[in-house]
Amino acid sequence: MTPPDNPMRDPSKKKTPSVSVPPETREDRRFARNSLVPPIFQSATFPFEGSADLAAFHAGELDAFFYSRFGNPTQTAAEARLARLEGAECSLLFASGMAAVSSVLLPLLGPGERLVIPAECYRHSRDFAEGILARYGVQVERLAENTLEAMADVAEGSVRVLFVEVPSNPTMRIPDLARLAEWAHSRGAKLVVDATIASPALLRPLESGADLVLHSATKYLSGHNDLIAGAVSGEQTLIDALKEAQALLGSIISPHTAFLLDRGMKTLALRMERQSETALRLAEYLSGVKEVECVHYPGLPSHPDHETARRYMKAFGALVSFEMRGGPDAADRLVDELRVPILAAGFGGTESQAEHHAKMAFADLGLEGAKARGVTPGLIRFAVGIEDYEVLREDMKRAFQKI
Ligand code: PLP
Repeated sequence: MTPPDNPMRDPSKKKTPSVSVPPETREDRRFARNSLVPPIFQSATFPFEGSADLAAFHAGELDAFFYSRFGNPTQTAAEARLARLEGAECSLLFASGMAAVSSVLLPLLGPGERLVIPAECYRHSRDFAEGILARYGVQVERLAENTLEAMADVAEGSVRVLFVEVPSNPTMRIPDLARLAEWAHSRGAKLVVDATIASPALLRPLESGADLVLHSATKYLSGHNDLIAGAVSGEQTLIDALKEAQALLGSIISPHTAFLLDRGMKTLALRMERQSETALRLAEYLSGVKEVECVHYPGLPSHPDHETARRYMKAFGALVSFEMRGGPDAADRLVDELRVPILAAGFGGTESQAEHHAKMAFADLGLEGAKARGVTPGLIRFAVGIEDYEVLREDMKRAFQKI
């Protein structure tokens, strides 16, 4: 099925699948009463035997849980799996991706401190920075574009946090991560990477010098469109500090959601490999469709960051954006004609999703408002699920013929 020169299998040109994750060992699967999977500890609190145990716990001599806003065993099990996936010392799970974004940025920043954000990123991350952090005196500076060249325009002086989204939503820009880390550290900044679109099966920013990697676990990590969660990974000391803040902000994941997320992460590599392979083929097909003006997919040699993607990513991911020659009306007609992908917000599940991005994510701002935010009216974001490529392509072909 995969053409022999399929760049998804590059740069190493290995015969074996390129998307693999670290193995789980017997030690990793040690849960209460020999359960094979982490039990759902649906408990708000954890009783002590007596005052001596309580005192030992507070003295750090008894390893126990205390209250589920501070931590819960099901959460801990899912965090251990995520840390293995990220190659991180440890991970921390949150109630949503936005809880992760806000609970990382709030404690890292203070009045007068500088936060640099990318030109293109998830809308609410930008809104949180410019709408809320700025109100508390954080100096928020937005790059002109998601490139290293744009960093040259950041004024001299120290920066507290450089926040980037790699790949970015929706045109999938991928700046060189090692150089971003170098830039951040030379300014005294922490590099925080939102790698939601790639997932740790395809991209591990900590290996390139990022201080923290963050995800909307609602997407590929969980993979089934059945939960809302967020995740952050990095060094123990940083995560410990964030855990303390998480307890105060109350942004922890629930035990039941942590269970579902852990279950979803078991198949991450399989899903990402399959979805990326289909996405590449779909992007190649779309590049030859006359109604399509351009395709934004890092697996295509025409993408401005194709070479960077090849260096950093194990495959190119499952999100394909493309712009319709006929503009917003043509985009609406195509989305309405498609029968296989669902028309719904979000991405990352097993079912494909297709949306006219400006109308789905920027409806309140209108097409002009979306354009001002860099989203071309007429851009369709297609999140590839696990359906057969042929099924998706035939659906597309039929829809293009009808519009
Ligand atoms: N980061 C990215 C790149 C996203 O796409 C999203 C949501 O779509 C978020 C963060 C926020 O995640 P959540 O919806 O889980 O709060």
